[in-house]
Amino acid sequence: MEKKQFQAESKRLLEMMINSIYTQKEIFLRELISNASDAIDKIYYKALTDDQLVFDKDSYYIKVIPDKDNRTLTILDTGIGMTKEELETNLGVIAKSGSLAFKKENEPKDGHDIIGQFGVGFYSAFMVADVVTVISKALGSDSAYKWESAGAEGYTIEPCDKETIGTEIILKIKENTEDESYEEFLEVYRLKGIIKKYSDFIRYPIKMDVTSK
Ligand code: ADP
Ligand code: MG
Repeated sequence: MEKKQFQAESKRLLEMMINSIYTQKEIFLRELISNASDAIDKIYYKALTDDQLVFDKDSYYIKVIPDKDNRTLTILDTGIGMTKEELETNLGVIAKSGSLAFKKENEPKDGHDIIGQFGVGFYSAFMVADVVTVISKALGSDSAYKWESAGAEGYTIEPCDKETIGTEIILKIKENTEDESYEEFLEVYRLKGIIKKYSDFIRYPIKMDVTSK
């Protein structure tokens, strides 16, 4: 297992997310589903130019799996996946299209909804999870890798088993506090509501699978 540090900029964004008092924490799901959809787009476009690769519509989907017993929420996709190097570079840098790239002159009038409007990408997962695990197998690769982080301290990366191409993001949902509720993100009706609100336009099926009673 390798233990690595985040770049200084990433670490700062991560800390912001971990300590977020942003009321719309629910947008983490929009960000992860949008990444999943992008990953499926990538395999789709590849299939257009690669005769060896057939895009069979039914094989491409996103799945959201709340598990109350283990207190985890998993978002998986059958997209292009990430190699070990991609896990390190893509998840170790701040979102390219994220809020930090956002220009000042476009700042919304209330000045507060930067996260809501532009997204901060993958790291928004840390608003609701205290550990984030990413298991991924890239198209054309025989090996899968597990990336894991409990926050600004850094992340670990190690080989693991995964049969199919794609990515699984496993969120260890935070415990409720006096002022903040997190357990709601394990409730099917709540998750369905968030998906309807922000991800209705996603072109691939978003399935829900409930593992616990
Ligand atoms: P952005 O989507 O704006 O590029 P993110 O922080 O949301 O920024 O994601 C960072 C990068 O991590 C993505 O550009 C992509 O390369 C990679 N990534 C994130 N989630 C996935 C996923 N589910 N499958 C494949 N790659 C992913
Ligand atoms: Mg994104």
